[in-house]
Amino acid sequence: MTDLSALSPVPPGARDAVLKFFFGPMDCGKSTLALQMNYNHSRQGRRGLVLTKHDRSGGPQVTSRIGLGLEAIEVEDSLDLVALVTGHDSIDYLICDEACFYTVPQIEQLADLVDDHGVDVYAFGLASDFRSVMFPAAQRLFELADEVCRLQVEVLCWCGRPGLLNGRIVGGEVVRTGEQVVIGDTDRSPVRYQVLCRRHHRSGLLGEGTA
Ligand SMILES: [Zn+2]
Repeated sequence: MTDLSALSPVPPGARDAVLKFFFGPMDCGKSTLALQMNYNHSRQGRRGLVLTKHDRSGGPQVTSRIGLGLEAIEVEDSLDLVALVTGHDSIDYLICDEACFYTVPQIEQLADLVDDHGVDVYAFGLASDFRSVMFPAAQRLFELADEVCRLQVEVLCWCGRPGLLNGRIVGGEVVRTGEQVVIGDTDRSPVRYQVLCRRHHRSGLLGEGTA
């Protein structure tokens, strides 16, 4: 490998595996960081799988809004993640994008992979839904992860305060009831999402020019 620059190859089994959860609101760059992390690990000679669910592209790949993309495995509810990984040859790490949408048993499987199979798991996702209630899978990640990191790629509410929560907007109004997962984010969908500060998520004020 001639392009390692400042990075060294890391031998397998050099340390305990870890489960890390990176969370942040929509559009804060989670998928971009997931792709960067995969790139760094693979350059250092480590073997990984990239998983996602409900990616915005509609297909099983991780895409980011700054234009990067990578083929990925779609995590169906019935997919056993331990069986998936042990069915591949010597996997060192997993990149789990959109992990907030996995099932709770799948989060348990991620912990099993770390503890029983020495696989590093890097999970990325939203913490809370449009009501500011934690997704079940995200809650389990908070409970089980070795490290939980709020992403520091700052996004702002329309008022300039840090954007921490995801508002679901239907007909120009913030809504607070409905299905936990509704995929908006397309031009044709009547549902859209807007990242808001806590104050404006709670009050429902959307600001001029954002409705
Ligand atoms: Zn605000």
